Amino acid sequence: MTYIAKTVGFKPGERNVFFHILTACNLSCSHCYINHKQHGENSLTKEQIIEWLQLFVDKKKKTNLILLGGEPTLHRDLPHVITEAKKAGFFVTVDTNGFLFNDFLNKISPNSLDYLSFSLDGPNAEVNDPIRGKSVFDTCVKNIRRAVSMGFSVSVIFTTSLRNKDFLHKMVPLLVELKVKKFFIQVIGLRGKSAQHNIESRVKQVQVSREEWLKIVPEVALQAAARGIEVTYPKVFLDKDELFECAGNVAENFFIFPNGRVYKCPLCEDYPVNAYHIENNKLIATGGLTEESFFALDIKEGCVMNKLLQPDNIEYDKDGGVVHRISCCLLKEQINL
Ligand code: SF4
Ligand code: SF4
Repeated sequence: MTYIAKTVGFKPGERNVFFHILTACNLSCSHCYINHKQHGENSLTKEQIIEWLQLFVDKKKKTNLILLGGEPTLHRDLPHVITEAKKAGFFVTVDTNGFLFNDFLNKISPNSLDYLSFSLDGPNAEVNDPIRGKSVFDTCVKNIRRAVSMGFSVSVIFTTSLRNKDFLHKMVPLLVELKVKKFFIQVIGLRGKSAQHNIESRVKQVQVSREEWLKIVPEVALQAAARGIEVTYPKVFLDKDELFECAGNVAENFFIFPNGRVYKCPLCEDYPVNAYHIENNKLIATGGLTEESFFALDIKEGCVMNKLLQPDNIEYDKDGGVVHRISCCLLKEQINL
């Protein structure tokens, strides 16, 4: 059988709500994008979470809710939140670093959660733990096994950087053995901790070049698909005839932080340019200069925020033309079975 990667355009009528219910975490991953100055230190109460969720209910559209942090299982009321979110009609995923605090697996039934997504940045402790922390690999893998054996649908997120790109292919047999259903290959973004160096050194430290990305990622994605795993990875580079669209203009994505900021674009999260904020349990358009002002700009390089924040990944020809436009970071390639 031949597997073909398909670009998943932004689907009208589909919405994604990424809800950071707290920013606290037991780990300190080297590429963590949580920025306490911008995203706050607080943990929302159970009541606040439920009230804020209601702001994003739209019964006419499929809404994917991703509950995350920080580490969301540190929140004791997470099982209750999941139950209420399902009642409100959300398709619910929890993103965890694998520690599963507060006896999480025994507090909910596998049927009440659509996906439990674990972060792993290497196929073994030698690769994963220098990035995510000592003993993290063993804990995460042990809890993936437990979750699968209890009947949870499990996915894995791998963030590709210079530190682990050469080990991505080794994830495939591990995921097969662990009976993981979905695999999300991410590209490291220059946000949060990864952005705390000068441009030249941070690119050298973390970012995979276009050549490396195209050589490694699609091939591993095909290998995983051939073994029965649904794979998704960011498009990143557009060919000449491919349409550029900014999700901020054509899709509904919300990135909610516990300090009340609500962004439409994840690349904007290090700056106070959030399009909305929540005040007194109401969703309010921020007004003035916000991320929406950037979405309206039409530039030859594609994504405006990429051009502003990480211009090093744009290639120009000798006449100043762009060799490859950069796609919206939310545009994905998917290999379905
Ligand atoms: S587990 Fe997630 S939130 Fe915690 S430090 Fe790592 S990247 Fe940051
Ligand atoms: S990543 Fe770029 S293209 Fe996508 S929403 Fe943000 S500004 Fe728009």
